[in-house]
Amino acid sequence: MNCAAMVCGDTTIAIDCGIAFTDEHGAELVHPDFSWLQAQKENLRAIVITHGHEDHIGALPYLLKEVRVPVYAPPYAAALIEDRLAEHRLKGVDLRVSPAGSREQIGSISVERFAVHHSIADATGLILDTPVGTVVHTGDFKIESNPCEGQRFDRARLEEVGSQGVRLLLSDSTGAEVEGHSRIERDAEAALEEWIARSPNRVVVATFSSNAFRLRAALRIARGQGRKVCLLGMSVNKHTETARALGLIPPIDSLLIPPEEVSALPRNKVLLLAAGTQGERASGLTRLARDEHSRLQVEAGDTVIFSSRIIPGNELGVLDVINRFELRGLEVITRDAHPEVHASGHGSREEQRTMIQILRPDAFVPVHGTHHHQRRHLELAVEEGIRQTQLVENGSVLELTRDALRIVDTVPVGRVYIEGMQPLTDEVMKERRAMGSDGLATVLLSLRYGRLRNLPRVVSRGVFGAANRARIERKLAEHVHDRLKGRHFTSDDAAKEAAIEAARRFLVHNHRKRPLIVADVNGEP
Ligand SMILES: [Zn+2]
Ligand SMILES: [Zn+2]
Repeated sequence: MNCAAMVCGDTTIAIDCGIAFTDEHGAELVHPDFSWLQAQKENLRAIVITHGHEDHIGALPYLLKEVRVPVYAPPYAAALIEDRLAEHRLKGVDLRVSPAGSREQIGSISVERFAVHHSIADATGLILDTPVGTVVHTGDFKIESNPCEGQRFDRARLEEVGSQGVRLLLSDSTGAEVEGHSRIERDAEAALEEWIARSPNRVVVATFSSNAFRLRAALRIARGQGRKVCLLGMSVNKHTETARALGLIPPIDSLLIPPEEVSALPRNKVLLLAAGTQGERASGLTRLARDEHSRLQVEAGDTVIFSSRIIPGNELGVLDVINRFELRGLEVITRDAHPEVHASGHGSREEQRTMIQILRPDAFVPVHGTHHHQRRHLELAVEEGIRQTQLVENGSVLELTRDALRIVDTVPVGRVYIEGMQPLTDEVMKERRAMGSDGLATVLLSLRYGRLRNLPRVVSRGVFGAANRARIERKLAEHVHDRLKGRHFTSDDAAKEAAIEAARRFLVHNHRKRPLIVADVNGEP
């Protein structure tokens, strides 16, 4: 969930505004807590988006609900943002399309974009001209020796900027653990072509739907091998449509068939193009694996190619999908056994080195990736002779002057969990965590004139097995009754608090249980 702010005099700009996906206690996604940015409302002039991946654009609707400033984004990202704003019914957002090569003066900061290679169309980095010098933000990038059509890396412009002097480089650290060069997109496409040619029956190609280059390759390969294509699921349909509209994919109408027509064709004449590479429960791919798809089935002898990587944290879900396909007799090709079927969007160590050598900055700060990746990336910068380097954490305030670079402060940061486009408060998440891990116990009190009338009613779930539950609930009710009887409570809240405390002690001391405890008072006077 990338989001940075750059402050220069009375000008603040936000760079990227992303989410992370989660399945923590029912939340669907998480975005940064924007309260610091909201407090800068007066000076916040724009949100500048580097590219259209969710970890860079996904939180825009949530921030724009609070602050309305222009959003600058390259064409592919802008198209995705428009969809997102429509989903949130956000009207009148000032969305400005700014492709690589364009330049905007935003307050006291001039923002120029340069094209970079990445696993999404129109990825850009930023050249930010400020009164203390030029700051370059790479965005997410890789540098390919033989890029596919539509991929560009503005090396000449960066060399020019480098020769004029770069004060600070903020560079993508994601690939810092990988030695050498990253695999190029064309090689992944060639491998995909071979695996598809070798597949005797239906082929399912699962990939990141936001990579229009990979979608285009799968479509081209299918056409070349006489296979019709069925686009599986909303995100692949949506991204194919967007890529078509922007001219990234040639006309394909004659190639596409709906799911209902798949079974009518010979099995070696079909290619299914799917997303859901992370084992997402609701995805078309997971439903195919579970044989729960309403309009489509795959069978023993079909092939599934994961032209993707597993994002750390999703391993179990993805393995489950793979196992289900294999148990049903399908052949599954993954990057683990066949690394050639995927190319990462992030440059490896040598590409990171090239970026540093092109720009030769005075100062260097690694961004993107985990702290560990950033640390490794920083070592590389030191190796390359960069004297001013600094690691930052979420919330770090980094001060850049003409000659110094240092952390001067931290601002509060946090995460906001979202379910159904609405934020879940910290309290709700805390309750869900407690219920999810330790269960729930409720204590219903009946009061008259501030005094307990009779035995409280206790109901618990997820704490005790059925064999013991009724007996322990009864004991718990008796314990709360013993503690509260005879006491006079000046308010219902005071009675609830006392009941919760009594129940908590009973459950911890007698049973070592710590469920979420809820107390309530019934309505009688
Ligand atoms: Zn990206
Ligand atoms: Zn990213």
